[in-house]
Amino acid sequence: MSTINQLIDNFLAIIRTFRFKDAIDILAIGIMIFYLIKLIRGTRAVQLLKGLFVLLMMYGIAFLCEFTMLTAMLNKFFEFAVIVLLIVFQPELRKMLEQLGRGNYSYKRLVNLIVRIGDQKSEEQISKQKKNITVYVESIVKLSQKKTGALIVFERRSRLGDIATTGTIINAIPSEMLIGNIFYNKAPLHDGAMIVRDGNIYAAGCILPLTHNEGVDDNLGTRHRAALGMSEESDAVVLVVSEETGSISIALNGMLERDYTREKLLNDLIALLVVENNDSNEKFSFLNSTKKEKKKSE
Ligand code: ATP
Ligand code: MG
Repeated sequence: MSTINQLIDNFLAIIRTFRFKDAIDILAIGIMIFYLIKLIRGTRAVQLLKGLFVLLMMYGIAFLCEFTMLTAMLNKFFEFAVIVLLIVFQPELRKMLEQLGRGNYSYKRLVNLIVRIGDQKSEEQISKQKKNITVYVESIVKLSQKKTGALIVFERRSRLGDIATTGTIINAIPSEMLIGNIFYNKAPLHDGAMIVRDGNIYAAGCILPLTHNEGVDDNLGTRHRAALGMSEESDAVVLVVSEETGSISIALNGMLERDYTREKLLNDLIALLVVENNDSNEKFSFLNSTKKEKKKSE
């Protein structure tokens, strides 16, 4: 009983000394927990958190009932839990920090505004980029017609140097012939992904991280899973041509939009890669349609 009285006393003492900045402190922690839950929802980390929650409840009960041995044992466990959590949640923490760096959260507009000041594109640059995208679109459509498998990562703000080094650095101006040659199924670099940096073919034959999402369609093989994985770990736009069906898909933010036509592909790639720094990104058809689909499935 004395423990409960002590707890109540402590609680009242906290209330008496509560300041405005404590409220902000609590709010900040609340926001962090909210984004953490949003990030890990639907991943394997949820099961782990549930397990931890059960242990925490046990600890609370053991403490209140003064079970000395159980309290001491769980105390020891929680001392090491921070290290265990850092190791287990490493992919989620990495993803969160990357998203934070990219400005994917509510302060996105502010970050974009600051970045945009030094990042304004001229009319000439825009028309050059659009022309460049046409080369990729024509090549992709040809690969699709011939049912030649392809995986192309269009780098955006997240730099993918570590992924590029898993393959061969090419640094070449794109052309239909070169792209066709790289993905030709007897060519040495056809396996793996091509990385496009600033419109140029930066690398090919690269290994991408596979998605851990267990909800992915069973019919999708490793090429599509690699595209999804890359799009979860970065802001890249990842394009897939299926060797089996010839269908064209785009993976973005861990979501896959399938069965692209030439027109829609051109439209979406321009929206994502050229007008990317403007708010028109928000009006872009793929993001809107997938957001709706995601909401439906929730
Ligand atoms: P498809 O519809 O073209 O058959 P799929 O999604 O069914 O695609 P697979 O049939 O498993 O996928 O495709 C295998 C090919 O995907 C490999 O030959 C390789 O080129 C590519 N691939 C597989 N895993 C990766 C990876 N981690 N990184 C990059 N490329 C990969
Ligand atoms: Mg396959």
